[in-house]
Amino acid sequence: MLSKIVQNITPSATCELEGVVADMKAAGVDVIGLNAGEPDFDTPENIRNACKKALDEGKTRYINVPGIAELRRAICRKLKKDNHVEYAPEQICVSTGAKQALNNAVMAVVNPGDEVIIPMPGWVSYVEIVKLVGGVPVCVDTDENFQLDLAAIEKAVTPRTAAVLINTPNNPTGAVYSRESLEALAELAVRNDFYIISDEVYEKLIYNGRVHECVASFSDAAYEHSIIINGMSKAFAMTGWRCGYTAAPAAVAAGISAIQGHTTSNSCTFVQWAALEALEHNDDTVREMVGEYAKRKDYTYERLSAMKGISCANVDGAFYLLPDISYYFDKSFDGKKLEDSFGFCSYILEKAHVAIVPGGAFNAPKCVRIAYTNSLDKIREGLDRMEKALGELV
Ligand code: PLP
Repeated sequence: MLSKIVQNITPSATCELEGVVADMKAAGVDVIGLNAGEPDFDTPENIRNACKKALDEGKTRYINVPGIAELRRAICRKLKKDNHVEYAPEQICVSTGAKQALNNAVMAVVNPGDEVIIPMPGWVSYVEIVKLVGGVPVCVDTDENFQLDLAAIEKAVTPRTAAVLINTPNNPTGAVYSRESLEALAELAVRNDFYIISDEVYEKLIYNGRVHECVASFSDAAYEHSIIINGMSKAFAMTGWRCGYTAAPAAVAAGISAIQGHTTSNSCTFVQWAALEALEHNDDTVREMVGEYAKRKDYTYERLSAMKGISCANVDGAFYLLPDISYYFDKSFDGKKLEDSFGFCSYILEKAHVAIVPGGAFNAPKCVRIAYTNSLDKIREGLDRMEKALGELV
């Protein structure tokens, strides 16, 4: 017998697609992956070396639940320098990826039956993370530029609203929320006394001179109503290392550590030493990677915009574009209609051997998510193949 909670959740579409692509590659198919939400770069060498050193020094034991003091202090310095917001190390909990940080945060402030507002399109796991604690996800559409629609969010607020879960820069849209909209959201959260759980994992991946805005930095009241989620995966090409963190008001932070104390205990000890190295010594490598993503984004955007029937918002962050491909839904191949974003992606995978993610998985049914986490050459070839396959539809 499975629990009601398990019966109520849907497995991650992006993780499942990753499995299909891996099987095709193992069977010798030359698949071009434009689906993965992870950097294609290797973890920088100094970070790897810091991990090896920690292992050799015997940093392999249990430690205190929220993490080594050196890393928590470095996170506080980072938050002050980059985000203009002050936290004490006691307010930081280092977790097994931002995913665990998010689960901890939701578990800390959401009661069964409480509502959590989630702007859409949004990351696949948010809705499920809320459902895992018996919360009620309330999905609210963003505007036509994928920016927060404050009027729609305000309309969705009820006495049961415990939190709004935002993500800027955004997965899957690539949108960077404007300061004005975040200020208005903070004002709404303070007035109605709910939390803003602010997922900032793509903070460093931002282009065209845009600046990441951290909602907790706006005012004391905004700070008291905010929980910051961040991590090493996206900025430092450290997805497999599983290291993220929360920064929260003291009582919430204590709750988060208590939850983690009964689930995973501390996150991997030697990885925390590598994360410390990343935060302190990798500004240059991050800059280089961001420069490369920026070139790829411009190229991908231009190619998609030039394709028949496709329209694409030119956004400023993360490593995704979310073009509208709904023009093709009534087109067919071999007498079979594509129907929706899932049919579109299956066709492109089968016909062109290019993996992209159906927007349907993110509440963006007219779109597909294209990740430029592959070399410019592979992106070019992938888009060539996709364009050719689209030309064969009738
Ligand atoms: N938040 C968003 C928006 C993401 O896209 C992801 C990963 O895809 C995560 C959180 C999880 O990151 P981590 O690898 O640190 O668990």
